[in-house]
Amino acid sequence: MLVDKTDTLIVGAGQAGIAMSEHLSRAKVPHVVIEKQRTAEAWRTGRWDNLVANGPAWHDRFPGLEFDNCHPDAFVPKDRMAQYLVDYAAMIDAPIHEGVEVLEVERLAGKGGFRVKTSQGNITARRIVAATGAFQHPVIPPIVPETADVMQLHSFHYKNPAQLPDGAVLVVGAGSSGAQIADELNRAGRKVVLSVGPHDRPPRRYRGRDNVWWLGVLGLWDMAAPTPGTEHVTISVSGARGGQTMDFRRLAGEGVILTGVTDSYGNGVMQFAGDLQDNIAGGDANYYHVLDMADAYIERMGLDLPEDPEARVSFPDPECLTNPIRSIDLAAEGITTIIWATGFRQDFSWLKVNAFDERGAPIHQRGSSVEPDVYFLGLPWQSRRGSSFLWGVWHDAKHVADQINIQRAYQQYDGEAAIVPFAAE
Ligand SMILES: Cc1cc2nc3c(=O)[nH]c(=O)nc-3n(C[C@H](O)[C@H](O)[C@H](O)COP(=O)(O)OP(=O)(O)OC[C@H]3O[C@@H](n4cnc5c(N)ncnc54)[C@H](O)[C@@H]3O)c2cc1C
Repeated sequence: MLVDKTDTLIVGAGQAGIAMSEHLSRAKVPHVVIEKQRTAEAWRTGRWDNLVANGPAWHDRFPGLEFDNCHPDAFVPKDRMAQYLVDYAAMIDAPIHEGVEVLEVERLAGKGGFRVKTSQGNITARRIVAATGAFQHPVIPPIVPETADVMQLHSFHYKNPAQLPDGAVLVVGAGSSGAQIADELNRAGRKVVLSVGPHDRPPRRYRGRDNVWWLGVLGLWDMAAPTPGTEHVTISVSGARGGQTMDFRRLAGEGVILTGVTDSYGNGVMQFAGDLQDNIAGGDANYYHVLDMADAYIERMGLDLPEDPEARVSFPDPECLTNPIRSIDLAAEGITTIIWATGFRQDFSWLKVNAFDERGAPIHQRGSSVEPDVYFLGLPWQSRRGSSFLWGVWHDAKHVADQINIQRAYQQYDGEAAIVPFAAE
């Protein structure tokens, strides 16, 4: 048996679990990290082969470690990111137990703490941090029946063009995953149809600075979580081939056929909504808004950054944008594969506590659950836009560790006029 008792049990050894372990170690809180597969498994096997980080190496990392032998402006490949996290876990001596699944967590009746049922026996923990990720279960909308004569897979299961049967591909969803996969398939010589929904598409670089820098100085990474239910914005960015702005007109100019949102399917024919022009216009508006904010910031701060008039030159509107396609007969167009780049859902079914709303979403304040001694980490918009990204989760972990330490101090107070032993630093 790994351990039978701990103060804080962290579930998941992705970047969230590792960051949590670092901050708990700093605060001298005894803890273990339980991981059902391997450290950083999502970066090892849960992504396509050619994926690189969406942000440059100087930014998409934890503060305590830089990437070795890597230009700070480069976008690191996914395997390198996985190795970075494994190295980081070793550097901070994170007490990770791999290959152990947390099957069920329930409150110990009538006392503080939890009984944690794992694939290798039970553990008693005083508190729980659920760090199981924002991108757990691939979601495919129920549009095309499994019996349809076309291969269907989620972007989570896409690896490379050679994995797909010969023929054209419909990619549904034009967030970072869908747009990058469509681009990759098009470059590999496939005919590609890309179904584009509402999205933001910030410039990759503007006036000599990367998008991550602009989001930082403009306070947009740190933007507080908006009203629950309104927070999801699909962001289309890419670090592929040194990083390029995601521009759907450019993709179309290179051969990708754009359509609106995938709406329905029947008799081998896919129907698309008539929203392509609006969705492209919305993405453009976001793009130019970032440029305008950047220009205003440069002026206000008196910065000497190079002009970038090219950034405001648009590619011509392709035919598929001026005259959008509303339906496609899949067989007639030779489409043999549909890749659903349609997002993920979380799964906390193992956590048997009253910490969820009617949709199953955690009810929490910056990661502190309504259920005492239960914490979440790595949720989208947990405290800010950056929460589910590498640098953001590290800062959220720091806050959650603080909250754990504060609770520990109160819980240690014995009722006499003693000094409360607040947070070890
Ligand atoms: C395609 C894609 C590209 C991305 N690119 C970037 C990027 O470039 N930069 C960036 O900052 N972010 C990026 N992200 C977002 C985010 O950084 C990653 O998704 C990251 O893996 C999230 O880390 P995490 O620790 O929250 O979750 P995960 O990495 O998913 O880790 C959770 C861990 O929990 C384990 N687990 C789950 N359930 C249990 C259980 N019951 N018992 C034990 N263990 C369990 C899992 O095995 C997993 O290892 C990307 C996301 C996707 C989907």
